[in-house]
Amino acid sequence: MELCDRNISELAEMLRRGDVSSKEITESVFARISEKEDTINAYITTTYDSAMKQADMADKRFRKGGDIPLLNGIPIAVKDIICTKGIPTTCGSKILSDFVPTYNATAVEKLLGDGAVIVGKANMDEFGMGSSTENSVAGPTRNPLNTECVAGGSSGGSAAAVAAGEAIGAVGTDTGGSIRQPAAYCGVVGIKPTYGRVSRYGLISYASSLDQIGAIGKTVRDCAVLMDSMAGHDPLDTTSAQVKKPGFLNSLNKEIQGLRIGLPKEYFVEGLDPNIKERIETAVSLLEEKGAHVVEISLPHASYAVSSYYLIATAEASSNLARYDGVKYGYRSEAVSDAVTMYETTRRIGFGREVKRRIMLGSYVLSAGYYDAYYLKAQKARTLIKEDFDRAFEKVDAIVTPVSPCLPFKLGEKLEDPLRMYLVDIYTVSLNLSGLPGMSVNCGTVEGLPVGMQIIGRAFDEATVFQVGHAFEESTGSK
Ligand code: GLN
Repeated sequence: MELCDRNISELAEMLRRGDVSSKEITESVFARISEKEDTINAYITTTYDSAMKQADMADKRFRKGGDIPLLNGIPIAVKDIICTKGIPTTCGSKILSDFVPTYNATAVEKLLGDGAVIVGKANMDEFGMGSSTENSVAGPTRNPLNTECVAGGSSGGSAAAVAAGEAIGAVGTDTGGSIRQPAAYCGVVGIKPTYGRVSRYGLISYASSLDQIGAIGKTVRDCAVLMDSMAGHDPLDTTSAQVKKPGFLNSLNKEIQGLRIGLPKEYFVEGLDPNIKERIETAVSLLEEKGAHVVEISLPHASYAVSSYYLIATAEASSNLARYDGVKYGYRSEAVSDAVTMYETTRRIGFGREVKRRIMLGSYVLSAGYYDAYYLKAQKARTLIKEDFDRAFEKVDAIVTPVSPCLPFKLGEKLEDPLRMYLVDIYTVSLNLSGLPGMSVNCGTVEGLPVGMQIIGRAFDEATVFQVGHAFEESTGSK
């Protein structure tokens, strides 16, 4: 097995024993990048020189000794919507193609503080808008498990990098499923924490009330290591929560005996691929064997999730993306005869098709006369969806659902039909609307394509999500 195919926990141990150096691990990751990138396209930018310097620093830290963080010397990919000082941060968009931040996002700052090695900026749907990583100006990312299929999105580059050994762990963002769904499609683990758990400072906004930074790794344990590093209150983000960080690694070895797990009946209906349903049911029976009590629950407003999500997300996006006008950031059109022409052509050329579609939809639902009918209604539905979860969590400790109604699909298959693409998010968006934490773990394959199981927890109870995810991984003997 190559070093780049190992997980964070294995490598952390090898580093501690002095069996390998961070430089060797980082070289192994870059060798894999050279081998695979032409096909996979997981990265928009790779950072060999600075990564080797960071690896060298990590190795020095080991030589010095003392209490060393688990991430020290571990190569990590960062989604290209998260600011990295001195490294281009493009959001997969032409409009930010030459944007180089002068500061690090808080999450990146924390990872670097713990000694992580940043190997590059991962490919993504433009501004996080998409479910397949086909909406990137850098071209699509392919699924390492089947290169005719999409990697999922929008954090497709992050998930594909981890699955292909082009990074050991990765950072993604999730506005409506963009960590969980690509993790499911690439057969790795991904967690979207509770809204407010990880600082959004330095995360370029798509829909601010839904966006969260989270982790992608080969195992549940690896995600816990990444989350332990990134989580925590940050005075630079007013929506970051003032709650104690429990230490996610500590929650892994708790028994799930007696834990109550809910299966929402509205999620297992027509439209869900029967093969996926079967894999989830098998997975749930494994949890039952470990002592969990499985109960049917109801989330009666589930059918409003996709429509309210796409109204709220586009409304917020239309406002957030108003700042790209060719004056303050990035790309500016040459057509500068007058200010208005400059704004118009900059935005017409700078944004891709999907982004423009959403800006138009978002401006429409916020406009006078339509605001009450669409935006306000969507906000009311959002409250109902959240209250469904509140009621369910009176009866259960965690909820289990599929991540996606379908298997990874072929490149191009849904690109011309935005509604079909939006429906892929049916099981993930309700968590962003409610702010709840959710994880995707692999629960088998169908004809070689991976199936993801979603584990949902109460707000700020990622610990239970980790506990269930880890217990499941152990029961399958996969980790
Ligand atoms: N697919 C969803 C969207 O396009 C979710 C994207 C995300 O979570 N960033 O909005």
